[in-house]
Amino acid sequence: MNIRTTIIAILLIIALVAPGGALLGEKEYPKFLEEPWDHSPITVYVDEQNIPPHYSPSYPATVDRAMEYWENGGNGKLSYTPVFELVNTSDADIYIMWVENMEDVTGAEEGVAGFCRPMIANGRYVHADIVLEVGDYKGFSWQQYGDANMEQLVTHELGHALGLGHSNDIRDIMYPTYEQRENLNPLLVETTYPFIVMAILTAIGISGYLAVGWLRYRKRRQRLENELLNEK
Ligand SMILES: [Zn+2]
Repeated sequence: MNIRTTIIAILLIIALVAPGGALLGEKEYPKFLEEPWDHSPITVYVDEQNIPPHYSPSYPATVDRAMEYWENGGNGKLSYTPVFELVNTSDADIYIMWVENMEDVTGAEEGVAGFCRPMIANGRYVHADIVLEVGDYKGFSWQQYGDANMEQLVTHELGHALGLGHSNDIRDIMYPTYEQRENLNPLLVETTYPFIVMAILTAIGISGYLAVGWLRYRKRRQRLENELLNEK
């Protein structure tokens, strides 16, 4: 499978999962995958090492509450009951990190406060990265997100990591508010050698535009990818 085929496959997937012509007025709760993880518990790593200047040590607790929300039924749209386990290694299923400002650090569109990027292989998630900013410009002044805001943001992004897409139900947690209008493009990775394709994608810069604080993690992952690549 060459790089061009891979890119075409990714673009196809993006086109397929893009919100279709929803019937006017009908509430929809689309899913990327019905049951994205093939195992339980789903492991979560919260990066408290690579933190931006305005990070709050109270943020990890918002992740705990967001996990509890989904474990206790969430918005009622999951067909399974997720169980999370916090782990101390960055090769967890879900990796959560904070950056100072999404627009500055990742070049994201204005108004994007966080995103979840799942990587899909063989119809399942193999990994999901969640990146959250710690504050944004309100008018002319920069404001740090409080815990309530952060909890909402984390809960929404975790919803993506559990397979949910954006709802058009304004009262639903998966409704993309202004702060959550993130660009959500799952990466399709090859079944047999997911990490090799990930390495190629990283190399050509599709997934490699992220945060400064992420560099260390990426280097670590790169090393892992290189090891797997050499094994082949
Ligand atoms: Zn979203």
